[in-house]
Amino acid sequence: MSDKTFHNQEDFENSVEFAKNLDANDALKGFREKFLIPSINGKEQIYFLGNSLGLQSKNIKEEINKILDEWASFGVEGFFMGEDRWLDYHDQLARPLSKIVGAKPNEITVMNQLTVNLHLMMVSFYQPKGKRNKIICEAKAFPSDQYMFETHIRYHGLNPDEVLIEIPPRKGEYLVRHEDILNAIDKHHDEIALVLFSGINYYTGQVFDIKAITDAAHTIGAMAGFDLAHAAGNISLQLHDWNVDFGCWCSYKYLNSGPGAMGGAFINEKFHREKKIKRFGGWWGYDKDTRFKMEKGFKPIPTAEGWQLSTPSILLYAAHKAALQIFEEAGWANLQAKQRSLNNYLWFVLDELNSHSRQEVIEYITPKNKDEVSCQVSMLMLKQGKEVFEELGRQGVMADWREPDVIRIAPVPLYNTFEDVWRFGNLVRSILNQ
Ligand SMILES: *Cc1c(COP(=O)(O)O)cnc(C)c1O
Repeated sequence: MSDKTFHNQEDFENSVEFAKNLDANDALKGFREKFLIPSINGKEQIYFLGNSLGLQSKNIKEEINKILDEWASFGVEGFFMGEDRWLDYHDQLARPLSKIVGAKPNEITVMNQLTVNLHLMMVSFYQPKGKRNKIICEAKAFPSDQYMFETHIRYHGLNPDEVLIEIPPRKGEYLVRHEDILNAIDKHHDEIALVLFSGINYYTGQVFDIKAITDAAHTIGAMAGFDLAHAAGNISLQLHDWNVDFGCWCSYKYLNSGPGAMGGAFINEKFHREKKIKRFGGWWGYDKDTRFKMEKGFKPIPTAEGWQLSTPSILLYAAHKAALQIFEEAGWANLQAKQRSLNNYLWFVLDELNSHSRQEVIEYITPKNKDEVSCQVSMLMLKQGKEVFEELGRQGVMADWREPDVIRIAPVPLYNTFEDVWRFGNLVRSILNQ
């Protein structure tokens, strides 16, 4: 078994010994040790909320302390001195991130936070002109994105009800069909300025086909952008090769960089030297060689960094750097392999829950996707939903609750175990059988 990273469902067994054996043979088994796992009643939690706030790795405190020490030793000279040279600190983040989202390092910038960055990207990539003023997005996008759309559209003097086209799931379904997205893009082909979807819907866990949506947007002359909050650090992305125009994400979910961590943005290099593109400027986006001459006239850095405005928080950079180091050490391919196995085992355990019950007790909203594996599974509880959720919490299983009757869980490859998954399934079964 040790030479296999991908397990077929037929090979699985629903027993704690089997789960422990999978853990013993896990190529990434040492990584859990690098994290601080919260406890309940003296027992480590089964933490399935990596999609909400990823756990803290032990190196984060060290890396933040390093900045505090540099500040103490150098004062403002820390921007130019010491091992880190805060002025260039950004490069230490762009490189590992570029592997995680499939971009060139110069297409990445780490700045602000997610909703702020979405607004900034809209400044550059949403240019309503006459009839071509519409935006296509998914219905029930994350609330912050909905408010961003609403207020940004009003800022252009337009009416969100007329301009925003939201694609809903069909009646009686949970997921948005890709054909419905592509048909809507086609139908409104001469009215659409921007197509902006999430990479993964936060509620259903649906993974959108970023490449197909991007191609369809480009075919009709629209821009294509993505909110990758639930995708970055979770699924494999190839933002550059898919020719995505822009993408934004937060770093506190799967990227484990701490509450309120710095956000990230991808801006395709084809725009970096584009003079006509609109943007908001600030001194941190100004050409690095001449920034401190403080001259009149905005001269942007000809990379994604040219979209930066303000002096970044070096303390938050430090947390982000430490978190990304763990991804580097694990290696993206290894993480994806473990994620696949963990996800397969999760589905095996989940399917057993239904098959061992007299009637179906859980409906899985998230599709079982063979091609693209995401950590998250959203479960619609057909009976005793709230009761199951609350008892899971008392027993130290951290999941999240969404009205009505949905429990979301996201076992992640860096610090969750096969045993976590088995215990979760076993516990749900025992609660339902009480
Ligand atoms: C988590 C999340 C956000 C949060 O935005 P912040 O500005 O970081 O608070 C926005 N959009 C989506 C899709 C999210 O999942």
